[in-house]
Amino acid sequence: MIFIRQLFYKSPPFFVLFLVLFSLQSTVAQQVKKKHHHKKTATQTAPGFRFRTVIIDAGHGGKDPGAHGAYSKEKNVALAIAKKLRTAITEQIPSLNVVMTRTTDNFVELHRRDEIASENKGNLFISIHCNAMGGKTTDEHGVLLLVYGYHRKGEQLEAIRENASVFLEKDYKQKYNGYGENSAINTILMSAYQQKFRKQCIIFADLVNNEFKKEDGRYSHGIKEQGVLVLQQSAMPAVLVETGFIDNTRDEAYLTSPEGQSEIVQSIIRAIKKYKENVDGQK
Ligand SMILES: [Zn+2]
Repeated sequence: MIFIRQLFYKSPPFFVLFLVLFSLQSTVAQQVKKKHHHKKTATQTAPGFRFRTVIIDAGHGGKDPGAHGAYSKEKNVALAIAKKLRTAITEQIPSLNVVMTRTTDNFVELHRRDEIASENKGNLFISIHCNAMGGKTTDEHGVLLLVYGYHRKGEQLEAIRENASVFLEKDYKQKYNGYGENSAINTILMSAYQQKFRKQCIIFADLVNNEFKKEDGRYSHGIKEQGVLVLQQSAMPAVLVETGFIDNTRDEAYLTSPEGQSEIVQSIIRAIKKYKENVDGQK
């Protein structure tokens, strides 16, 4: 009390300023709290939430082949795995609706993929891709999981490669916030919307990663946060699965074989089941 009086005596403007700031801050905090409370039913951790729809996104397609192996193209491998995943989900998790962003060899713009996901009220977005070093062949092999997140220039290798699809789109600068003008990709700040799903993205990516490593004995490059455009605009938890290096001789054989594809699919299925248990109707 004495301290407060002294403070007031010696520097009244500061004290008043402090009081004003304090009351302002608590009002803002209350508003944020209110807003958050209001939105709670929309999040995926609310009681009674049901994971109903999964979006399967086969990367690339049509005029965008993605990466190349010695004899295969990423767009075809991604579509083959995505289709098998759809069949497996329908058979093994019948309570889940599956929506594909493409089912044929056609070019679908990245923002359109997110629109399809939102229109169908997806609860989880899984994008299937293959990694590549871009040379003739590489010793690099194994899986990598990408989630959208904080990132710095220079940590963008995979994102830059996966985002290259936008250069085949008309008006990509307008559609993707000036992407390609060296702005957005380097300075992206996560919106509150994306932050809301960040935890779930990482939970799912971690589940998939564990299945690949522990069940299939795959080498893993882990989970990376990068500025991947197809994940950026997604209105739901979204993970991009780099299923292997298409320009690695052994990985390419695995990625194009029925056994390899089925192993990848079953690992994703087990991860989906665990994720579903995790998010469904949290009590
Ligand atoms: Zn790709």
